Amino acid sequence: MARRFIVDEKDITDLKDNNIVIHGSEVKHIQVLRHNIGDEIIINEFICKILKIEREHIVLEKIAISPRIGEPNINLNLYMAMLKGNKMDFVVQKAVELGVKQITPFMSKNVVVKLDDKLKSKKQEKFQKIADEACKQCGRSDKVIVNNILEFNELFQSISSKSITIFAYEKEDNKTLKDILSTCDTFNVKDIAIIVGAEGGFTEGEADALKFTENVECISLGTRILRAETAAISLISIIMYELDK
Ligand code: SAH
Repeated sequence: MARRFIVDEKDITDLKDNNIVIHGSEVKHIQVLRHNIGDEIIINEFICKILKIEREHIVLEKIAISPRIGEPNINLNLYMAMLKGNKMDFVVQKAVELGVKQITPFMSKNVVVKLDDKLKSKKQEKFQKIADEACKQCGRSDKVIVNNILEFNELFQSISSKSITIFAYEKEDNKTLKDILSTCDTFNVKDIAIIVGAEGGFTEGEADALKFTENVECISLGTRILRAETAAISLISIIMYELDK
C-alpha cells in the first residue's frame, strides 16, 4: 500500500492533464522519506505518481482514487468543550483513532481557557494538524475535519442536522447510554453527535437548554464522575463498539 500524505487544499494547485503541484509541510516530509520520481504515493484521496521534486514543491500526476480504508459506517461527531493545557490535543488524537468523523470544540460557562478570535483560529489549526497526523498514523483514508471553536449558543444550530445528539451530563441519574444505543441500533441511526463538557462540567442552565432540544438525549456514564477526556474516549469507544457494523 502506498504511503499516505494529507495536504491542505490551499497547498494544492491543479495543473492540466490531471497533474497537481503541492506546497507546504508535506513536501519536506516526502523528501525526508526519500521518495523519488516515479514513486506512487497517496495525496488525500488520490493515488499519485511523483513527476518532479523541487525544494519547495512537488509535481504529481493523479492516477486513481484511493480505496477508502479504516472508515467506520457511522458518522460520529464529537462536540468537545475546550479543556486546559494539552488535554484537547490528546482528545483530538484519540477521537480520530477511535473513528470520529468530525470534531467541534466549543466554549461554555465553565471552560477555564480564555481565547480571543486569533487564538481560537490558531488552536483550530493546531487541532486539525493533530487530526491529520492521527489519520495517517492509524491508516484512515478520509480527512477528519476539526471545525472552528463554537460558542455554547452556536451548538444548537450545529447539532440540529444530526439524527440524534447524545449529551453526557455528569448530573444525569436516570437515562443511561445503554438505553439510547439500543434505540439507535433498532432504528439503524447513522448520524450521531455527542457532547462532552469541560473540567467544570455544565451549568444547570446549559444542561436544561440542551435537554429540552429536539433529538437530544441526556445520559449518564455511570455513578463515577469521569475526567472530561476519559468521558469522551469511553463514550466514543462504546458507541463504535455497539453501532459500527
Ligand atoms: N466538575 C464536574 C464534572 C465534570 S466532568 C463535577 O464535579 O460535577 C467533565 C465532563 O465529562 C462532563 O461535563 C460530562 O460531559 C462528562 N462526564 C463525566 N462523568 C460523567 C458521568 N458519570 N456521566 C455523564 N457524563 C459524564
